Amino acid sequence: MIIDCHGHYTTAPRQHEGWRTQQIEAHAAGKPAPPRPMITDDEIRKSITNGQLRLQRERGTDLTIFSPRAAGMDHHLGDATTSEAWASACNQLIYRVCSLFPKNFVGVAMLPQSPHVSPRNCLSEIDRCVNEYGFVGINLNPDPSGGHWQDPPLSDRYWYPVYEKMVEHDIPAMIHMSAACNPAYHTTGSHYLNGDTVGFNQLMTSSVFKDFPTIKFIIPHGGGAVPYHWGRYRGLAQDANLGMLADLMLNNIFFDTCVYHLPGQELLAKVIPADNILFASEMIGAVRGIDPETGHYYDDTKRYISQLPLSAEDKAKIFEGNARRVYGRLSGTIEKRSAAAV
Ligand SMILES: [Zn+2]
Repeated sequence: MIIDCHGHYTTAPRQHEGWRTQQIEAHAAGKPAPPRPMITDDEIRKSITNGQLRLQRERGTDLTIFSPRAAGMDHHLGDATTSEAWASACNQLIYRVCSLFPKNFVGVAMLPQSPHVSPRNCLSEIDRCVNEYGFVGINLNPDPSGGHWQDPPLSDRYWYPVYEKMVEHDIPAMIHMSAACNPAYHTTGSHYLNGDTVGFNQLMTSSVFKDFPTIKFIIPHGGGAVPYHWGRYRGLAQDANLGMLADLMLNNIFFDTCVYHLPGQELLAKVIPADNILFASEMIGAVRGIDPETGHYYDDTKRYISQLPLSAEDKAKIFEGNARRVYGRLSGTIEKRSAAAV
């Protein structure tokens, strides 16, 4: 089985994001949000069949761990109330996709975060997504202000209510930014990769893994700058008397393979042990074109991994085994669904 641990519903029916625009406009005008739009099962089916499902089939992958569009989370807009309603709408839609295509998609929750609002505010949505929707993870935005970094770092006890919930439910968090509202950043070109790198570094210099020995985080987009600068982080950990970086991080931190060229994948696989790499493409996402050097889609990452000089056993870990290990509820979900299908 080939499990893609990083996909977003970027092809959701238009009225979904249309409602978000109306909601934020109403909020700015001090008015209540309009009622949520009607979205039919057929509209959802069409958006998936012509989008992510078609690419799964073309590329030969089986299951996508699927979450709401990350750039659309926009935690910096509105307030805690609008974030709650928007996260609820987005997660419900993911639940509907997973119910319509139970063999192909398993859900991950977006959280109702807002700058300066305690992450404690996210706990009931996490409970709902795990208990009622069968989701297996969350996306955690380390900077809900959208590029102004106004909240405490991930090392701070501010975030501990979410960490406690992750451990309670045995769900990992992917550290995932949303859109940048700071014009210094391009959302997918620098803001995302920044967040990946910042998140890793914040956790590295924290006692989070001492306080939560079983907690798991996925650093997306190949880990931002981290694998390329592994020597820098090893040296920083050593200088700060934190010990060996691998001992410090690799029980709890995992990297996905959303790296859009072979040399980058080679580096990732050379620096990071196969046990800590999870296959992912983030399709349909940030980079949608075809690489003229290869004639293939940049985000068809399965092709790169197939070319890596790794053993079949290591590739099986990257494609399937590690996802089942990191997403502790995943295997149970897959089994339950195949039993229901029979
Ligand atoms: Zn993403």
